[in-house]
Amino acid sequence: MDNQKGLFGEFGGSYVPPALAEVLDHIAEEFEKAKNDEEFNKELNYYLKYYVGRPSPLFLAANITKTLGGGKIYLKREDLNHTGAHKINNTLGQALLAKRMGLKRVIAETGAGQHGVATATAAALFGMECIIYMGEKDAKKQPLNVYRMELLGAKVIQVDSGDRDLKAAVDVALGDLIQNYKNTFYILGSAVGPYPYPSMVKHFQRVISKEIVEQSMEIEGKTPDYLIACVGGGSNAIGAFADFIGNKDTKLIGVEPGGISIDSGLHAAPLAHGEVSIIHGFKSYVMLDEKGEIKSSHSIASGLNYPGVGPEHSYLRDAKLAEYVSITDFEALDAFRELSQHEGIIPAIESAHALAYAMKLAPTLSKDAMIVVNLSGRGDKDMDTLITSEQESFKLQASINKG
Ligand SMILES: *Cc1c(COP(=O)(O)O)cnc(C)c1O
Repeated sequence: MDNQKGLFGEFGGSYVPPALAEVLDHIAEEFEKAKNDEEFNKELNYYLKYYVGRPSPLFLAANITKTLGGGKIYLKREDLNHTGAHKINNTLGQALLAKRMGLKRVIAETGAGQHGVATATAAALFGMECIIYMGEKDAKKQPLNVYRMELLGAKVIQVDSGDRDLKAAVDVALGDLIQNYKNTFYILGSAVGPYPYPSMVKHFQRVISKEIVEQSMEIEGKTPDYLIACVGGGSNAIGAFADFIGNKDTKLIGVEPGGISIDSGLHAAPLAHGEVSIIHGFKSYVMLDEKGEIKSSHSIASGLNYPGVGPEHSYLRDAKLAEYVSITDFEALDAFRELSQHEGIIPAIESAHALAYAMKLAPTLSKDAMIVVNLSGRGDKDMDTLITSEQESFKLQASINKG
């Protein structure tokens, strides 16, 4: 096994069986070629502009900025992308790579269904056969996303092995890739997994960073003082950070989901409380139980609910090139309501984590400070979560009043 590729300090690498390593090496070679190919980039940029709707605006949230006093809060509007989040930047890139490699079948794993929908969208656009692996448990929780993927022409296979969750879906997808690599491309959903996926996903999400540089120069005549993004696997964050890494003028802040609380253990924040281990074929900070096994994570935001984190974030944290903080479920819900009521923008509950931290930070800064929050997605998908949480807090309040 060759673990030396795709390293970020001691993190990342490739801890996979030889058969899979060979397939991944081939993908890495093709990716390197495509990345420097003018035709490929031209085609990708065409779809980013005319299909996704890029560039996404950088919007000054003037109302909440005024209320909070202090630094200006700008929103990078990835929620305005086609399909409503940043994920499409990556699925289009990987689908075009598959097309360039002459592969006509794409597969993907999905947890809540967001990545599955973004993959099915790209497959429909390019006329590819599409298989989405989804844990049976997750499929039961998200029937609407299952219908959406099917409407887009994908076949959704419900995985009933293992814990019938995201991890089980990843395992089955990798098995499919080993079997069918001659006609199949595996479109991975975040900046995780073995080499070359973390670098490839970063490359396709880097467009966020590039636009933030241009837009902040145009609007404020400088790059942001603070750049804040939520961290699940870490793709929207690494895409936003990419061009600022090592730039001392811009402080990078990743926001992990603190769930109920870090102390309770009910969170999904391996950088706040985790250990170095191997997960899904790469080395990173991971949440482990007493037996050293991967622990199940908790977050109100299904897109952030992962017990590991992209390897580059582990490196950036240890090298002190970025700071990582956490925001609880409740704090995220507050920010979710604030942005909806005062800016008319319903953010994804994932993105609300980044916003919640920005809202804590802004009042401590001077009025000329510039904060950019990467608003990774829109929140229409989160209405059920909001309703359930309101019912639960109502019940809790009622029981406190009684007691
Ligand atoms: C999937 C998702 C995330 C988390 O994924 P990252 O890879 O950490 O970016 C964040 N926000 C939204 C809206 C998502 O759909």
